[in-house]
Amino acid sequence: MKNIILIAPPGAGKGTQAKMLCDKYDMVHISVGDLLRKEVSENGPYAQQLEEKMSQGLLVDDELILKIMNQRLNEEDCEKGFILDGFPRNINQAILLDEMSKQIDYVIYLDVSKETLKNRIVGRVICPKCGSSFNTLIEESRPKKDNVCDTCGSQLEKRKDDSLETFEKRYDTYIKETEPILDYYKGKNNLYSISSTDKEEVFDTIKSILGV
Ligand code: ADP
Repeated sequence: MKNIILIAPPGAGKGTQAKMLCDKYDMVHISVGDLLRKEVSENGPYAQQLEEKMSQGLLVDDELILKIMNQRLNEEDCEKGFILDGFPRNINQAILLDEMSKQIDYVIYLDVSKETLKNRIVGRVICPKCGSSFNTLIEESRPKKDNVCDTCGSQLEKRKDDSLETFEKRYDTYIKETEPILDYYKGKNNLYSISSTDKEEVFDTIKSILGV
């Protein structure tokens, strides 16, 4: 399988699409946000530094991200093909990724309006065990039983940074820091843009881009 970068504003469904791809194909989903939240919940050496930035909707320092990504991308399972969800998130990280000499076959951009993102983030609840995501504000995405994961039965949780206030900050950070990397990849000719909000339609488009 190939190596893919997913780029999208917060709440656009990067994690959902990555999970759908991994369920169907033998690939590795690398969610930087999940790696960072794990470090925080396990109270690792960088927990405090991470929590401070994440709770404000700001990017974590490139140096620390680079350390984490260098380690993760050199683990053996990445040879199957990986989906990067949340890295790179600024031009400097894109350059650092190039320097790691990992081949990137597709850069896929999910283009979703700010209004849609806001509703998705504010109503989002996530299963900490299997990663499934639900939305209490969107009829068709509600869990069948209040607060319980449809997939594995675990108690659902709300991410600390999924408040309206932090969403606005995360969105600003995305526009200022992350969106400019689209131009960086445009120059390399491997950028694909998808603007649907229907998750099955997005998934079908991704599959056709990948030719699978
Ligand atoms: P979302 O894409 O929905 O904002 P993520 O789970 O990808 O959520 O990221 C959550 C937070 O983790 C970000 O707001 C940021 O603070 C931090 N983070 C994630 N990826 C990176 C990165 N590549 N560089 C710096 N900070 C990051």
